[in-house]
Amino acid sequence: MTVVAISKQKGLDVERIRADFPVLDQKVSGHPLVYLDNGASTQKPSQVIDVIKYFYENDNSNVHRGIHTLSQRATDRFEGARKTVQHFINAKSEAEIIFTSGTTESINLVAHSFVRSSFAAGDEVLISAMEHHSNIVPWQMLEQQIGIKLKVIPINDKGELLYEEFENLLSEKTKLLAITQLSNALGTITPLKKMIDAAHAVGAKVLVDGAQAIAHTDVDVQALDCDFYAFSGHKIFSPTGVGVLYGKRALLDAMPPYKGGGDMIKVVSFSGTEFNELPYKFEAGTPNIAGVIGLAAGLDYVSEIGIGVIAEYEHELLEYATDKMLAIEGLRIIGTAAEKASIISFEIDGVHASDLGTLLDSQGVAIRVGHHCAMPVMEFFGVSATTRASLAFYNNKADIDALVAAVNKAVSMLR
Ligand code: PMP
Repeated sequence: MTVVAISKQKGLDVERIRADFPVLDQKVSGHPLVYLDNGASTQKPSQVIDVIKYFYENDNSNVHRGIHTLSQRATDRFEGARKTVQHFINAKSEAEIIFTSGTTESINLVAHSFVRSSFAAGDEVLISAMEHHSNIVPWQMLEQQIGIKLKVIPINDKGELLYEEFENLLSEKTKLLAITQLSNALGTITPLKKMIDAAHAVGAKVLVDGAQAIAHTDVDVQALDCDFYAFSGHKIFSPTGVGVLYGKRALLDAMPPYKGGGDMIKVVSFSGTEFNELPYKFEAGTPNIAGVIGLAAGLDYVSEIGIGVIAEYEHELLEYATDKMLAIEGLRIIGTAAEKASIISFEIDGVHASDLGTLLDSQGVAIRVGHHCAMPVMEFFGVSATTRASLAFYNNKADIDALVAAVNKAVSMLR
């Protein structure tokens, strides 16, 4: 396994970090909480919670609307957050940062604005077999609605993308590659830069689903040269209900708005309406102001620690967890790619995943059981569900030991 980004900074003080996350300090079913469901959603540090509380207690007002002091303060903080996001992913301009409700909405924005307005029947959208439903279903909807063709890059039994098959699928008909950077069901890291360059070589644009990757690896949209990048706040220690679509300015400028309403217009008249400039053209209606401000606090928190330090620490923890899990009799890890991060999906002979999940919860261990919104991945591996432990930088070896002990206990009860 290789780490995507390794920092030269000194290591991580996990105990100090854990103290920043109040939710971790509790008992569940009489046991200390072991939170290993970070792929579904991450916990929030006090720094994020405090910023949101401060906003509602001091600055709460609508943005871009009033000349009164509170509205100006709210607007300054909201637009300041846009700059924070811009710097976090190294976008060229803050106009390229669109606030959405999350990755799902960001992908749907690209589908229903960019693709719907500029693709013709027969144009191809390429995805991989390990995509989350939110990077499958919008394209299937457009297949039905405007006749685009969805093509799927297959994976091997380690959960790695078959690169040669990808190259074979690329053609001048390929208009969009929509690809995850890190699979939520398998933990696979895709060879993104290589794929982006190959897609560009045939004239296709590239949308990256960064929902999982954003909290685990350095993201530089200019270095990647992706055309769009989507992520959610709640996967990176920030609030739910807020996310980002990054898009290259020239593309966003040419795209029509996909939601109409307040804030996305310059002038409205029954004889014709003029749309606002970027990024507001895509932000109709009152946004999730506190969420956006909280997102900036979450990104600042991660930046202060350093994503490279986080990636290095999590890589070590993943290796530790993988070795410990494999020692459990009858356990099979689903997703064993050479390039992998933060996720261990598994099944155990003779044990039903949902029974296991319930018994783990009764020992205070929170993991996810199910298809992880990636039913085609489950189908490929011939399972209906997996149990998934997904790590974050506040997890430690004691969490892994508790997971292993809880699994062993549950298995002895279930077999
Ligand atoms: N893509 C991936 C890889 C994900 O893991 C998720 C969330 N599980 C999503 C997209 C969708 O994110 P959200 O539900 O926050 O919109």
